[in-house]
Amino acid sequence: MIRSAPVKLSARASAIGESATLRVTRRAAELRAKGVSIVDLGAGEPDFNSPPVAVEAARQALAEGFTRYTPGSGLPSLRAALADSYRRRYGATWKAAESVITVGGKGALFELALAVYDFGQEVVLPSPYWVTFPEQVRFCGAHPVLVPTCGEDGFRIHAAPLIAAVTERTRAVLINSPCNPTGGVMGAEDLRQLVTFAAERGILVIADETYERFSYDAPHASAAALAAEFPDTVVLVGSFSKTYAMTGWRIGYLLGPSPVVKAVENIQSHATSNATSFAMVGAQEALLHAETEVETMVAEYKARRDILVPLLNAIPGFRCRPPHGAFYAFPDVSATFRPGRADSGALAEYLLEEAGVATVPGAAFGAEAHLRLSFACSRATLTEGLERIAAALAT
Ligand code: PLP
Repeated sequence: MIRSAPVKLSARASAIGESATLRVTRRAAELRAKGVSIVDLGAGEPDFNSPPVAVEAARQALAEGFTRYTPGSGLPSLRAALADSYRRRYGATWKAAESVITVGGKGALFELALAVYDFGQEVVLPSPYWVTFPEQVRFCGAHPVLVPTCGEDGFRIHAAPLIAAVTERTRAVLINSPCNPTGGVMGAEDLRQLVTFAAERGILVIADETYERFSYDAPHASAAALAAEFPDTVVLVGSFSKTYAMTGWRIGYLLGPSPVVKAVENIQSHATSNATSFAMVGAQEALLHAETEVETMVAEYKARRDILVPLLNAIPGFRCRPPHGAFYAFPDVSATFRPGRADSGALAEYLLEEAGVATVPGAAFGAEAHLRLSFACSRATLTEGLERIAAALAT
């Protein structure tokens, strides 16, 4: 073997680390491979099967040889179906040409970040935040400006503090409602206030509505409802992953102003070319014909939330409000910190190694006092996980 000088990585690559959620999943898989029984409350991964209509349509597309490159921005029929869906549900006037089908919602966000954030600019976002947001901002040489939301009011996302954080360097405000990890939501009034302000200032509001359908206590307030009025301001990111239990298919999308869409199309043309041909066929079927499955899944998530939250609050030192949306509980667990498990990272490690329960430390989301537990798993898994946690913390 001939070794050369140490490999040099780009400053960009050195500035970001592995996603904490993927790290937990990896460690849990390692333990499982060694025969350890693991209860996985870490991954944000629906436990349902993808809708049969989607599976069948993709299978058929494959069998019929629909296996070549597609137009870079996605299947025209899927783009048209998406534009139509947002028009029917929210009155949005986006045309098919103002959409791009991407490799997951993550792909949409990443290409969008590359398209609109420049060195030295700022992107304002609520905190706690999904792990990937600040990393993508930093990757582009911009700075994430974090605006705290508060557990006492259910991590609601308010316009005023976001607006107050805007400076002349701000390029975009990035909101995620319902929020991963907190389940916090932004109401229609706050959304309007934020978008109106952003339009006056010429900055973008990027709305990641990946968890749109998982709104348990009130109808979802979508930025799409403001797109017709503020066409140069609103960018919407969505995904088939969670809504349709299609995480592995890797189909996401964005809709927004033409110049943004064009820039994303250019970037995508040099990155992934297009999302997977037959996966897009399946996604289109899901969009058009899997509403019953979505409603069944959402009802089950709500039921699980209502089982999980009391179980969490029964653990001494855990405090949890019911999340309004998404499928994560985000209890404050700081009262259980003690030597050996003195922060969220050490506690999550302790629970994984000692109780065989995978959770994600709040620190990964900018909230050291918390743990994130996913309820995208069966009721039996939830109860067993919570029993194990309670037992491990009682020692
Ligand atoms: N946005 C948020 C807030 C998420 O939690 C996720 C996945 O965990 C995504 C976007 C991206 O999902 P995908 O790339 O699977 O579409």
